[in-house]
Amino acid sequence: MNLFYMIYTPSGTSETTHTHKYESKITKQATCTETGVLTYTCTSTTGTCDKKTYTETIPATGHKFSTEWTVDVEATETTPGSKSHHCTVCDAKTDVTVIPATGTVEKPLTITASKTEADKTVTFTAKAAGGKEGYTYKFIVYNKTTGTWGLVQNYSSKNTCTWTKGSAGDRYFYVDVKDAAGNVVRSEALNVKIDAATPKVTLTGSSETVNAGAKLTLTAQTTLGSGCTYKFIIFNPSTNQWFKLQDFSSSNTFTWTAGSDGTRLFYVDVKDADGNVTRSKALNVTIGNGSANWLSVKATVSSNTSKTGDKITFTAEGVGGKAGYTYKMVVYNKTTKIWGLVQNFSSNNTITWTAGTAGDREFYIDVKDADGNVARSAVMNVTTTK
Ligand SMILES: [Zn+2]
Ligand SMILES: [Zn+2]
Repeated sequence: MNLFYMIYTPSGTSETTHTHKYESKITKQATCTETGVLTYTCTSTTGTCDKKTYTETIPATGHKFSTEWTVDVEATETTPGSKSHHCTVCDAKTDVTVIPATGTVEKPLTITASKTEADKTVTFTAKAAGGKEGYTYKFIVYNKTTGTWGLVQNYSSKNTCTWTKGSAGDRYFYVDVKDAAGNVVRSEALNVKIDAATPKVTLTGSSETVNAGAKLTLTAQTTLGSGCTYKFIIFNPSTNQWFKLQDFSSSNTFTWTAGSDGTRLFYVDVKDADGNVTRSKALNVTIGNGSANWLSVKATVSSNTSKTGDKITFTAEGVGGKAGYTYKMVVYNKTTKIWGLVQNFSSNNTITWTAGTAGDREFYIDVKDADGNVARSAVMNVTTTK
């Protein structure tokens, strides 16, 4: 026999499978310190779902601390402060560290210095600040011209110092201030320049060189005030002779007519209203082309000692200038202080002298060239004994 199995299926129902289809959603965010929740929900609509939702835990994130310090409390002179590393997400702090109190902040010691210059003095004034009060001041000077340091005023509570202007020089003044704690600070340099004094009497010529026969005008100037009188003087180095050109007079100029070639030195003496006389520096003037400057004489003596009655021989030789020399010999007796002429200008250049009396004598030979220039020899000493 055949068995028929009939499957009975109630109408309106059908046999279908359910496959979960989950979607996730964060239902609670995790924070630095607290866990979060991730909720899964099944969205499949076929069949019957036996696990509509379930959850998972999201771990806490942990703090994210900055590497930078944040000052939470500023330190003051008397109270400490604090600093920490802050979480960049929440308000958490870590590594809380004490910032020590700053204590009293001392201002650094400083000094300013100034000067006021008068005719004959300079007054320096210094002003200190900061450091520990109770200042003393020292004044020093560096003379750049001589390269030397000097003390003007040693440490004292006086913050001013008056210096009397001295010799010419380029000076730098400094002020040192010392505070009650012994700290020392030096001021900036204060420069005082003293020029060499202007000469009280100056002599100028209308030219530095003139030809023989030409005019040279000499002009004297003075700061010695009114009522001065002027004396003009000339010196000829080749003959060792001085001449007065003009005696004291109110005229401060003199016109000189140039003589023979060579060098001349001019001076002016200025007498002030009180009768004090001040001489100018030498004014050097060359006459001619200067060839006369090349004239000289070489003179020799046979002996520097003699007995009375001995003969001494002097020999002279002109050098330079214009050929055609003549020679003159003079003697100065140092014992009697008398000058004498041994030979006037002559072409003879070998001069014999006989010692008459005992004494110390100086001999000179002058040479004159064809242009009339004259030059004197070096001294020749002869000592004569009985
Ligand atoms: Zn499901
Ligand atoms: Zn945090």
